[in-house]
Amino acid sequence: MRLFKPATLVTGSFVLALGLSACGNETKAPTAAKPTAAASKIVKDDKFTHANYDKVRMTHLSLNLDVNFDEKVLDGTATIDFKVVDPKTHILKLDTKDLTIRSVQGLGRNGQWAALDYTLADKDEVLGTMLEIPFSKGMNKVRIDYRTSPTAEGLQWLSPEQTAGKKKPYLFSQAQALNARTMTPVQDTPAVRITYDATLRVPDGLLPLMSAEQGDKDENGEYHFKMPQPIPSYLLAIAVGDIKFKAINDHIGVYAEEYILDASAEEFSETPLMEEANAKLYGPYRWGRYDLIVLPPSFPFGGMENPRLSFMTPTLIAGDKSLTNVVAHELAHSWSGNLVTNSSWRDAWLNEGFTSYVENRVMEDLYGVERAEMEQYLGLEDLKRDVANAARPELTHLKMPADLAHPDDAFTQVSYVKGQFFLMFLEERFGRAKFDAFLKQYFDTYAFKSLSTEDFIKYLHDHLHKDNPDALTRAELDAWVYGPGIPDTAKQPKPDAFTKVDKARTAWLAGDTAGDTSKWSTHEWLHFLNNMPDGLTNVQLKKLDDDFSFNGHQNAEIAFAWYMQAIKADYSDVDTELEKFLMTVGRGKFIYRLYGALAGLNDDASSWAKGVYAKARPGYHPIAQRRIDAVFAKADAEVEK
Ligand SMILES: [Zn+2]
Repeated sequence: MRLFKPATLVTGSFVLALGLSACGNETKAPTAAKPTAAASKIVKDDKFTHANYDKVRMTHLSLNLDVNFDEKVLDGTATIDFKVVDPKTHILKLDTKDLTIRSVQGLGRNGQWAALDYTLADKDEVLGTMLEIPFSKGMNKVRIDYRTSPTAEGLQWLSPEQTAGKKKPYLFSQAQALNARTMTPVQDTPAVRITYDATLRVPDGLLPLMSAEQGDKDENGEYHFKMPQPIPSYLLAIAVGDIKFKAINDHIGVYAEEYILDASAEEFSETPLMEEANAKLYGPYRWGRYDLIVLPPSFPFGGMENPRLSFMTPTLIAGDKSLTNVVAHELAHSWSGNLVTNSSWRDAWLNEGFTSYVENRVMEDLYGVERAEMEQYLGLEDLKRDVANAARPELTHLKMPADLAHPDDAFTQVSYVKGQFFLMFLEERFGRAKFDAFLKQYFDTYAFKSLSTEDFIKYLHDHLHKDNPDALTRAELDAWVYGPGIPDTAKQPKPDAFTKVDKARTAWLAGDTAGDTSKWSTHEWLHFLNNMPDGLTNVQLKKLDDDFSFNGHQNAEIAFAWYMQAIKADYSDVDTELEKFLMTVGRGKFIYRLYGALAGLNDDASSWAKGVYAKARPGYHPIAQRRIDAVFAKADAEVEK
């Protein structure tokens, strides 16, 4: 079934339709090629914030914090500069979540700080607690004295035993999507951009880092940071630990715990080539330095594009650079996402789809069409699975529905891979040369601004489609953006290497040898495993492992693909290694699906998984804990039905 939901207006004219002139309050599209965000009317279209950013807007955040490992809190002040957009407004509404607010002061026109009244609303489970600060005329600076909670979802405090070095504790943050508000009072919406600075005090022997210009320690033992480019709050980031640095070139390097520092620098040694490829396509890198930090294994994501300092999972350190597309991805966010940002999480594909597209172009540039196509193919398989598992068809639209329950629901392969394939489709229709020039201009036009899907469609029309009207129809565009599933116009990648793998698998299943697999890449192994037929017997699973040694594989992607096959076949010989994997890897991409598959298999597997989870849970990130709690709750609810 194909549910088709047309775009927000019906008109016979493609041009009018793309112009979105009747689209009302969803549109704040500029009419000039170089819009000035400051001058444009701000429409509040992000429902995941309490902030009244259409009336008052934060412009700068200044943090002064103690990083207190004993109590597992950040403790100090947040000073907020703001600009009144609507002169009738005298209340600044901020997002907070699980913060203890001790006092609020405002800077009066006399240059004196004075206490201000404030109110905290009732807590909303998703949005947190609104902090309302009435301010007097002419005031544009408030200071909030506060501390975070030890259970803040955006902060993971690791004990020394939970680090590789075992001697010193570690803290790292994850603000996207709604967790900056668990770190500081803030207008926590991607529609608002702020510059920031920070002063941090940390215990001796620990190095603090932020998504900013890294500051040196001053004579008082304080570290100072500065982010001069305006960023959305979800890019606020902090890491503190026994962290060392190794340069890759004069403006790119790696931070990591000692044990993995050299291996990380080697694994990511081609990052400068990726930067060159990106800059060649889309214009210069605009953020100064680009560094990567390899975090402890509980980091729940592959990577997080914190500006100037991408946060990376150690599961990428495969020893053969086979998983560095994630580096290409996080680096690409320096253009798509960080430079040009979705204005609400309903438009997450503007960040992730563009980034997946740019990532793949860079992989093609560096490693050739075959690798790029293999990665497209694997991505498409993941997308098909997410589309099939979507709770409702609207969650497979690029433009997520207005009643989206949580931004997490937008961060599926729909935003990433469907978004990527939409841009591949546009590239194919308009031609690569024109589309490349268009994207470069788009990144330049919207640099350091936030925009909606409708803004993009209008820009696409004005700067590409108007002069090439036959390249696509409104119906085709709507099918991608406002329609469910994967449109018929999607590219079907067919890498030759995978055709050969299919033959090898068929031969192996028939009892022959798979042939020479000694030169297979990670991608080929993943294709080999992912497409095993249902109903493999335990005898076949044992032979697979005997032939190819998948159990306990050092490459986390291959190990994961193997465990998924083993779980499907209820092959319990993997339990020891699988438990080890679940106890040491905290990356959500792997563990959510492993627990999900175990919980849905049968009672034995489910209770075994619950036992492992009970042991592993304290070491997982708060985000992962919430997601896996939900996996088991859902499985239990289905059993009761
Ligand atoms: Zn991304």
